[in-house]
Amino acid sequence: MEQTFIMIKPDGVQRGLVGEIIKIFEQKGFYLKGMKLVNVERPFAEKHYEDLSSKPFFEGLVEYIISGPVVAMVWEGKNVVATGRKIIGSTNPSASDPGTIRGSFAVEIGRNVIHGSDSVESAKKEIALWFHDGTVNWHSSLHPWIYE
Ligand code: ADP
Ligand code: MG
Repeated sequence: MEQTFIMIKPDGVQRGLVGEIIKIFEQKGFYLKGMKLVNVERPFAEKHYEDLSSKPFFEGLVEYIISGPVVAMVWEGKNVVATGRKIIGSTNPSASDPGTIRGSFAVEIGRNVIHGSDSVESAKKEIALWFHDGTVNWHSSLHPWIYE
């Protein structure tokens, strides 16, 4: 079953949005397979965002991610990568549809509350980076109530 990496960024944690965000993914029918509160070290943040290292906002982005604890999660379900991105909304909250997480809870692109993998391939890479111990591979007994 497909998995995605979701991270509640420091602003989301500080603003008390952790429960609300977990609720949205749980109610949809996705399975929470892994979760931890992490104080990210600078080199780890740089590794997570390595594809963006040439962008002018990279330094500010790294400072943002290391500014406080984040909640790192793995969610599982059919099409969870693409659907997770829809639930999150556009990168810039002013372009995010109302009802999406960024559309509902964020104003600025540099404080957009949440990260979600953008493809199945990057999800695999991010899950391997954040949950390298394999603890996300257990079976959820909810299955028959969500899938036919
Ligand atoms: P997404 O998080 O939607 O996948 P990107 O991967 O393009 O977006 O960028 C990663 C993160 O970098 C964004 O979520 C946002 O926090 C930050 N970011 C992206 N573009 C900008 C920008 N122009 N200015 C400031 N921060 C940005
Ligand atoms: Mg991205």
